[in-house]
Amino acid sequence: MNTLIDSRMNTLIEGLSEFNFYLPTNIIFKVDALKDIRSFALGEKPFIVTGKNSSKKNGALEFVQKCFPNGVIFDRVEENPSAETCDTAGNLCKEEKCDWVICIGGGSPLDTGKCVAGLATNGGKCADYFGRDLFKNSPLPILAVPTTAGTGSEVTQYAVITDRKNNTKKTVADRRIFPKVALADPNLTLTMNRDITLSTGLDALSQCMEGIVSKKSTPITDTLALEGCRILKEYIPNVLKNPSDLHSRTMVMYASLLSGIVIAHTGTTLVHALGYYYTLYYGIPHGIANALFLIPMFRRNEKYLPEKVKTLSNAISNNPNFGTITKIEDNLKELFSELDFSYKAKDWGVESKKFPEFAENLANDPYRFRNQYGTFDMTELENIFEESYLGK
Ligand code: NAP
Repeated sequence: MNTLIDSRMNTLIEGLSEFNFYLPTNIIFKVDALKDIRSFALGEKPFIVTGKNSSKKNGALEFVQKCFPNGVIFDRVEENPSAETCDTAGNLCKEEKCDWVICIGGGSPLDTGKCVAGLATNGGKCADYFGRDLFKNSPLPILAVPTTAGTGSEVTQYAVITDRKNNTKKTVADRRIFPKVALADPNLTLTMNRDITLSTGLDALSQCMEGIVSKKSTPITDTLALEGCRILKEYIPNVLKNPSDLHSRTMVMYASLLSGIVIAHTGTTLVHALGYYYTLYYGIPHGIANALFLIPMFRRNEKYLPEKVKTLSNAISNNPNFGTITKIEDNLKELFSELDFSYKAKDWGVESKKFPEFAENLANDPYRFRNQYGTFDMTELENIFEESYLGK
């Protein structure tokens, strides 16, 4: 790869690489964006997908119900939604003859809504669509209202779904499940507690960082991802200290949106694949699970992509002067300590006895390595789990 660094701008330019950039979502990013939802109706009868509590507590669901009184509500989406939940919701949407989908919530309701949109027009089961471009008929149009600031699912063509049978996460990917409209309203994120704010913020950081080192990175995504990292480094600490600071909430939501645009093009890397084990086996929130692998994985990424990682390291440094860069792991440790986040997986209830099994399982799944530079055998994967466990 031919990566150029413009040292004056401290930015990355991927030399002469070809790229494709496609983003069909109409993004409305503003405080109180939700209030405009009526003008973005995509059909006659919406199917409204949301989680169990938060959209009721913050009033978003009630407001949407008032705007669309004939809408049918499905409010049973769990965290890390299962294929079965998507099937139940998809059947209801079809039975009720809804012609568009509104999803309100974090990544879980947004991803469920995307599957519902495809299932309603194609039938079958969610698991039939794990993979890429498997919907025969066009899914229903989707309007997404994110209420966390971390996944960027409102601007991606992915739905990440738990496959309970195999205790793993699978992706339904299809350009036709990009939401047609994203109403990104920072007001809706004010109700997130500390834990959810931290976990989702770290997810956005991880997505931006992974985007930069992905085999599919492009000049545009590098620019967006670096900007996302700079914003998150500055503003996650702020939102944790001042949860009701709307400006900081707005900045983090913006960076989350950038992180979604990034991964829509670059995909995620091994960090995400590793994190799934912590989420599925120990119930660790998605963003935390990713963050627990950033140090071990970026120490390795630094070897494969030294120039890119140097620029990234500078973006998350407290001393962002080109030429005074410290190692990425030192900058990450400093940031984590500012966030009061323990990067030792053992502090989060992870047990090390399953690492050989996880490493073997991962080593046998080539899909998980598609965007990752470097070669990783079972021993190396086990080392990564160990380092994450001990915070090395
Ligand atoms: P989430 O699982 O959607 O929600 C986590 C928790 O946050 C839930 O308890 C939820 O409560 C609560 N919550 C949501 N909004 C809130 C608010 N404004 N105030 C207070 N509480 C709120 O979390 P997430 O991190 O946003 O999404 C993670 C999922 O997204 C994972 O399954 C991950 O794999 C997926 N993901 C998808 C993409 C993509 O491109 N499709 C990208 C990254 C991650 P309620 O349930 O009551 O709402």
